[in-house]
Amino acid sequence: MRKIVVSTFLIGTISLFAFDYNLEPKKINQNTWCFLGKLEAPSKKNGGFMSNHCFVNTGKNYVLIDAGGTYEIARQAYEEMSKISKLPVHTVILTHEHDDHWLGASYYKEKFNSKLIGTSLINKNYTLDSKTRMFKTLSKDEIKNTKIIKVEKEITEPTIIKVDNTEFQIIPVGVKAHTSEDLFVYIPSNKTIFSSDLVMNGRITSNRDGSVIGELKAVKMMNEMDYENLIPGHGHDTSKNAINETKQYFTLLKQRVMKAVEDDIGVGEVTKVVKMEEFKDKALFEQLNKRNVFDAYGELEFYEEE
Ligand SMILES: [Zn+2]
Repeated sequence: MRKIVVSTFLIGTISLFAFDYNLEPKKINQNTWCFLGKLEAPSKKNGGFMSNHCFVNTGKNYVLIDAGGTYEIARQAYEEMSKISKLPVHTVILTHEHDDHWLGASYYKEKFNSKLIGTSLINKNYTLDSKTRMFKTLSKDEIKNTKIIKVEKEITEPTIIKVDNTEFQIIPVGVKAHTSEDLFVYIPSNKTIFSSDLVMNGRITSNRDGSVIGELKAVKMMNEMDYENLIPGHGHDTSKNAINETKQYFTLLKQRVMKAVEDDIGVGEVTKVVKMEEFKDKALFEQLNKRNVFDAYGELEFYEEE
């Protein structure tokens, strides 16, 4: 056992080249593939590959939904894309401001001068020298070449873009949900929803910047659409059922926290009363669930059903 550990360590150190992500795109339908990240928080071990991003072949181009968490992830992702078809990346749609989803856009900007469109919060909340979570967490090698980018077209209302003959509907939730401004994307021609972090599966979400009520609204909006596949922001289920875990989590979280408020449970006690045990085997449960319950209490304490 010890021998194996030592040799793996040596290989790790000897390789002065870039961290190898071993990216393998998963085919979703005839023109869409996704890189599905690990169900973990970002770390030096996973090199920041812990979110999902997707590419769509529109005929003569690729359009990406999110861009991965670093320049190097994006560079290696494009190597895999070019094995399928060597097309330029025309547009990158950035769904929300969390950096694990968009720092990779710096690669596509540099290599293809891709058009970067999406949430306005990237422009509002970051400057070119912002040191975001990825910069603080990853090794120098892993974060190398990564830069903060500017979104060239901010999407703040429902927008349709067409690249070659493929239509993309970009839909803002309109209220705080996973963050204060989340977009999801729908392609009518292949009935695919890219939910961004509004949906996760296989792991617990982090609702630190979000809202229970907004999440439930977003889930409802997507549920009412005609789709065959739904790609979560994190998680490996990309089927029609991919939304179920998130729907159940926020529905139960709301019910139970509101019941706790009714029962005069104090904020200090709420995480002991509302446990969300159905989800205890999901990744990141220990790290994130209590905080979600605690935050939900703050949100719902004076909430009145409309
Ligand atoms: Zn996020």
